[in-house]
Amino acid sequence: MSRLRSHPERHAVSRIGWLRAAVLGANDGIVSTASLIVGVAASGADRSAIFVAGAAALVAGAMSMAAGEYVSVSSQADTERADLAREKSELASQPDFERRELADIYMARGLDEDLAFRVADQLMANDALGAHARDELGISEVVAARPVQAALTSAATFSAGALMPLVLVAITPPASLVLTEIVATLLFLALLGALGAWAGGAQATRSIMRVTFWGALAMAATAGIGRLFGTTL
Ligand SMILES: [Zn+2]
Repeated sequence: MSRLRSHPERHAVSRIGWLRAAVLGANDGIVSTASLIVGVAASGADRSAIFVAGAAALVAGAMSMAAGEYVSVSSQADTERADLAREKSELASQPDFERRELADIYMARGLDEDLAFRVADQLMANDALGAHARDELGISEVVAARPVQAALTSAATFSAGALMPLVLVAITPPASLVLTEIVATLLFLALLGALGAWAGGAQATRSIMRVTFWGALAMAATAGIGRLFGTTL
């Protein structure tokens, strides 16, 4: 990993992890809460009803993100643990087969047989399980799963995103709420899109178009539902 970090052109890889997750969480929070608020507001509900709906959306969304992330990362961790345990026992019970297996992987990547076995032998002498984990199972320490941390991060970034449309409900006059929510949401999404693109070292315009398109679609859909089933509009 230290070698990877020393390459300046790979910097996006180490930056992308947490920042990309944070941007995605905030993105979810903004889109789902703002769409819900736009839908309820378009139905002609009063400010307190809109606020309650928005606050409930924030809490429900944050909990659902946390639960989903916890379950997904835990099951990934379980799978990795089981794979490593099986690999460990195979290394103990059939070392020759495992040596052959690792050398085959290096041959498939282009090394000749002699060199492949030398690489396999040296790596296995140093850290047999580590070599098999990386090259056979694709597990590296960098992606080692931390479910609680992932769950808390998801919930926190979702809430941070959801807070923006909710604060607007409190400070915007009801008559202009729908328009204000839509404009502010698209602006924030564009900002997050730019941030996400920077984090991933990707092109900003494409990323901004992508997130604002889906945000606009979500708000158009809920505004339509609000108007369709609304009482006063
Ligand atoms: Zn193996």
